[in-house]
Amino acid sequence: MKKNVTIIGAGLVGSLLSIYLGRRGYKVNVYERRGDMRRTEITAGRSINLALSDRGIRALEEVGIMEEIRKICIPMHGRFIHNADGSSAYQAYGKEGQYINSVSRGELNRKLMDLAEAKGANIHFHHSCRHIDWKERCIEFDNRDNDQVVENFELLFGSDGAYSAARLQHQLQHDRFQYDQYYIDFGYKELRIPPAADGSFQMEKNALHIWPRGNYMLIALPNVDGSFTCTLFFPFEGEPSFASLDNKEKLDKFFRENFTDAYSLMPDLGDEFFHNPTSSLVTVRCYPWIREDQFALIGDAAHAIVPFFGQGMNCGFEDCAVLDALIGKYDHDWGAILSEYQALRKPDGDAIAELALNNFVEMRDKVADKRFLQQKRIEAKLHLLYPEKWIPAYSQVTFSPGIRYSEALSRGKSQDLVMQPFMDEVMNGADWDNEAFLQRIIAKV
Ligand SMILES: Cc1cc2nc3c(=O)[nH]c(=O)nc-3n(C[C@H](O)[C@H](O)[C@H](O)COP(=O)(O)OP(=O)(O)OC[C@H]3O[C@@H](n4cnc5c(N)ncnc54)[C@H](O)[C@@H]3O)c2cc1C
Repeated sequence: MKKNVTIIGAGLVGSLLSIYLGRRGYKVNVYERRGDMRRTEITAGRSINLALSDRGIRALEEVGIMEEIRKICIPMHGRFIHNADGSSAYQAYGKEGQYINSVSRGELNRKLMDLAEAKGANIHFHHSCRHIDWKERCIEFDNRDNDQVVENFELLFGSDGAYSAARLQHQLQHDRFQYDQYYIDFGYKELRIPPAADGSFQMEKNALHIWPRGNYMLIALPNVDGSFTCTLFFPFEGEPSFASLDNKEKLDKFFRENFTDAYSLMPDLGDEFFHNPTSSLVTVRCYPWIREDQFALIGDAAHAIVPFFGQGMNCGFEDCAVLDALIGKYDHDWGAILSEYQALRKPDGDAIAELALNNFVEMRDKVADKRFLQQKRIEAKLHLLYPEKWIPAYSQVTFSPGIRYSEALSRGKSQDLVMQPFMDEVMNGADWDNEAFLQRIIAKV
């Protein structure tokens, strides 16, 4: 039966979900806590750029909107590593023609809202979910004037992000609800490299720039206006940390010494560093995600993850595509749809959470490590010669939407175990770039 659908949160995932459900003929009402971002400027220091990759792209293509989104994307074909000694290196992300895309979260959200409305969704801004009565099937919202508004629902989705109010209401009124929230000891801050005076990019445009420094890192993604949005991932406490860089002199000295080339391109570093917020990074795992045939969590509300694999949004978009396929499979029987949605997506949400945490170490530390780089080279060659048998872990997650996250996690672990004894040989001088050596590896898969 085609129920009326209510969605809490008009972020990236709530907006895409509205498009999917609108396309299926559902009447969709979305309630969003904030005002309409299409009528306001993005707040300074909150201009996050996201890497959109194949899982997200596939979900956008499915509803025919990828061409529209492509207009605001910049392809990034590889990592551009800025080493501490001033040297640099480039690592392609995948095979020739494989790339990820830099896109502004705000711009993308605005476009998705436009497209959701075009598909018939009604977005109610300034509606903050406060309470859900599961028996009566009604939701209380605070509106702009702090008045309470009560709306009934038939089928409800919580897509209100990492700190989801819908999830909390679900949790508070559910026996044996499992909940795990984990903060890493690192926060992040947005900084900016402006365009050159003539509007051009001041660094390689089609790459994700990384300054790996062991215990911390700076990254930069290109914007369509010629600027780069930089993100400093840094410890909250200790030496160095957000706490220790407590005045402009210390900040300048630190950046000049550790991010020399970036520092010379950041004229507003002091202002940005001391005015932009320092934000925390959380992983949330919970269960169950659903309530019979009436409710489901989706996107970050179901599985908030750290951003180091560039997959939070991609995973949320994939949630929408999986749900949509199940609507087709079960012909609008929401009990069956939600039950299989949870069975499929919960293990994948857990897997990408683990992969994302592991990738932090890889990005901030290992990309500057000789053994790691050599292993990547060998794996790239294996993939080229035996594409069916060997897909590097990064490619499984980023460029292989046909492989589930949970499968990518377990295959990646097995491949790494296979590689380590061979890496010992290589680091002891063995010649790896020949068929016999590579076949010995493949024989172990
Ligand atoms: C620094 C950083 C970098 C990232 N980089 C990447 C990347 O490269 N690639 C990638 O795929 N992902 C990345 N992510 C993750 C990505 O931003 C999230 O996964 C994505 O935004 C999740 O979308 P969502 O719609 O589920 O949640 P959100 O985007 O958080 O949207 C939730 C919406 O719900 C609204 N809301 C909240 N509470 C209420 C309430 N009580 N009532 C009504 N509405 C409410 C909010 O205002 C918001 O509009 C990154 C995240 C961070 C922090």
